[in-house]
Amino acid sequence: MIKKDRLVENFLDMVKISSPSKNERAMGDYLLKILKELGLEVREDNAGEVNGGNCGNIIGILRAPGKKRLLFSAHMDTVVPCEKVVPVIENDIIKSDGTSILGGDDKGGIAAIIEMLRVIKENNLDHPEIVVVFSMGEEIGLLGSKSFDINSYGVDFGFILDSSGKPGKIITKAPSAARGKITIIGKPAHAGISPENGINALTVAAHAITKIKLGRIDAETTSNIGVVKGGQATNIVMPSIELDYEARSLSNEKLNTLINETFDIFQKVCNEFGAILENNVKIEYPGFSLEDCEEIVKIVKTACEKVGIKSETASSGGGSDTNIYNSKGVKSVNLAVGMTKVHTLEEYIEIKDLVDLSKILVEIVKG
Ligand SMILES: [Zn+2]
Repeated sequence: MIKKDRLVENFLDMVKISSPSKNERAMGDYLLKILKELGLEVREDNAGEVNGGNCGNIIGILRAPGKKRLLFSAHMDTVVPCEKVVPVIENDIIKSDGTSILGGDDKGGIAAIIEMLRVIKENNLDHPEIVVVFSMGEEIGLLGSKSFDINSYGVDFGFILDSSGKPGKIITKAPSAARGKITIIGKPAHAGISPENGINALTVAAHAITKIKLGRIDAETTSNIGVVKGGQATNIVMPSIELDYEARSLSNEKLNTLINETFDIFQKVCNEFGAILENNVKIEYPGFSLEDCEEIVKIVKTACEKVGIKSETASSGGGSDTNIYNSKGVKSVNLAVGMTKVHTLEEYIEIKDLVDLSKILVEIVKG
């Protein structure tokens, strides 16, 4: 039922449309047109306005009154460089010409959803109620899914197509993450004439950093200081320093404990030195964890079996729209698309994976 050439052509069309985060307009217009042609009820929400972008989330509904309601979602935006993507096909693998990313993250997911809808229409398949969401601003903080009012759609289960790995991989666990700046404000003084009048922010930070937990904390928890900025000149006692901090854990509780501990240590050391602490580290997205016995997992596993694809559940190290939909109470999993080396110029995707993913989706809707 899957038409490989049509699927590939659609994918190639889409990767050629530049759609960096908050600038998804052209992509959104392209998708609105396709969804309309396929007979879906189409709308665009205000996520663009709310988040300072030029395109909202694109939403399509395929009605089936009285039936289960399933969400299928992938994001429209890509990381840069994506201005002029020139896709190249070699040995059934699609990659860029090496000067840009490919954008299989997440246009591979979008292509599979569109192919699924085409197969439903063409074959007059019996189907559940289908809500399709193509989100904006995913790459810069899950902006579209955070703004999307999923609860007004009465969705039973969400299938998000946005994981690397081979189709058949089902992400059922992902960490919660906290991120932000920790700023220490000391006191400037002339480093040669009166250093005793200053408070060196770097010294304060160094004392705190030797006491906090950094790196791998346990099997499900990590933290990092990735960027440090401070200082003006060698003859000025460093007046302030900014530390870009992040922490992740598969356990929301462990993450909260970790960031509270970290903040307490910074506060205590600042007090000792007479420095001021500013902390804007916040939970960026909550984690989720679904057991293998959940109905949504079984639905995907059964679909994979029917098309002869091995399935396995796995946990992810990063966040996706899946985190947000689960936090809003809609049980959702993140399905692997086949995209490889994403966010690099070497990104590629195998055509077979696009086909396999589309087959899995068709089986999910056939139920
Ligand atoms: Zn993605």
